[in-house]
Amino acid sequence: MDILKLKISEIQNLIERKELSYLELIKEVFKRIEENKELNAFISLFPEKAIKKAEECDKEFNKLKEIPHLLFGIPVAIKDNIAYKGERLTCASKILKDFISPYSATAVERLEKKGAIIIGKTNLDEFAMGSSNEFSYFGVCLNPINKEYVPGGSSGGSASAVGGNMVPVALGSDTGGSVRQPAAFCGVCGLKPTYGRISRFGLVAFASSLDVIGILSKYIEDCAIVLQVISGYDERDSTSAQIAVPDYLPLKSNLKEVKVGISKDFFLKEMENSLIKLYEEFFKLLEKKGVKLYEISLPKIKYGIYAYHLIATCEASSNLARYDGIRYGLNIEAKDIDEFYIKVRSEGFGKEVKRRIILGTYGLSKGYYEEYYGIGIKMRKKIIEDFMKAFEKVDIILAPTSPTLPFKLGERTKDPIMMYLCDILTVPISLAGLPALSIPLKYKINNFPISLQIIGKPFGEKEILDFAYGIEQL
Ligand code: GLN
Repeated sequence: MDILKLKISEIQNLIERKELSYLELIKEVFKRIEENKELNAFISLFPEKAIKKAEECDKEFNKLKEIPHLLFGIPVAIKDNIAYKGERLTCASKILKDFISPYSATAVERLEKKGAIIIGKTNLDEFAMGSSNEFSYFGVCLNPINKEYVPGGSSGGSASAVGGNMVPVALGSDTGGSVRQPAAFCGVCGLKPTYGRISRFGLVAFASSLDVIGILSKYIEDCAIVLQVISGYDERDSTSAQIAVPDYLPLKSNLKEVKVGISKDFFLKEMENSLIKLYEEFFKLLEKKGVKLYEISLPKIKYGIYAYHLIATCEASSNLARYDGIRYGLNIEAKDIDEFYIKVRSEGFGKEVKRRIILGTYGLSKGYYEEYYGIGIKMRKKIIEDFMKAFEKVDIILAPTSPTLPFKLGERTKDPIMMYLCDILTVPISLAGLPALSIPLKYKINNFPISLQIIGKPFGEKEILDFAYGIEQL
């Protein structure tokens, strides 16, 4: 039996029956990571700390005679743009390669409070900018389904670690698709919650009006378990919502109760016919099972990719100004302060990050602000209106997660536009701040499963999870 292919509740059952210990579980995790070293899913690993914690969990369990929480003793990986006290927080950038975080993110604190064990920090595109994990100072990460392919990005390491059965769950971050797209590429589930559902405290800022922490898992139930623990208001993040967190568990299929919207606007004419056909087949299957499907129209989502790259680059240029070598960054010799800044930022940032800082700085400059950032904001409003209108008619919207299947390493790095187009189906949801869960479907092309994006109303995570659970049962 492969314990790392089990659900969290199944792992806990084995422990309860004394067929497995937390120490054995954690040792299996590090063994698996070692076997999959080539995938380069991790930037940092904490075997000593994790083993010590697992031993403590075993002791505590023997004393209590029961498991205090489903996450107790469960290994979790976190993306290396999320803070974990006392450990490196690199954002896969040279400029932060030696930076040690003085505190933990709220999400990480909440996981640890329930007994989860943080086993390591995962690889990503530098500062979460990218869709293939090829823009990492620590090297590319590979797709566990086929090593010639990218795992997607920017949470490529988290997706590869979960998809490669190294950990049951991982945290990622999603600004424009960085949890959903790599989840789709690696055949796992990826949840981007509503903006404000999970505290951003301790998540390194890329584009603050879009950034959220998300969850990658193999099973919907595991995603719900983690979401339950890390959601909710946090006074350290003024954008976290003061809205009660519902009970996500137990999951209950709502396939026959919800009204489901499908929009042609998510099926681009550039997409492969064979791919579109599989989605059509799936929708037919849903109808046969009694799911009520409605055609909806979202004509403005086509502006999503433009609005996103205006807004995200502008916000990034402002957020990344802090890496100046004084507060954060490299320690470099220079004759004066100007040369110091230039050297630190030229040597510290990679090509893609520089491209975005330059674009964003231009977009915010005097005389251009209205024309670029201002237009981005206007387009964003139109997209939000589209979704809100659709949600008057339906409860959930279904769409593909990615317009293509995973691509080979190096295939898109030379052309930034081709890379940006990976996010065309995920960014509209980010701009609208909505929750969306990507799940793999049974249909495969070249061994890669195709993925479905389940989009919900603001704070509609429960409906999404129940719907996904219904599909998982199918
Ligand atoms: N791939 C998108 C980008 O390059 C989204 C990144 C993200 O969600 N962090 O910006």
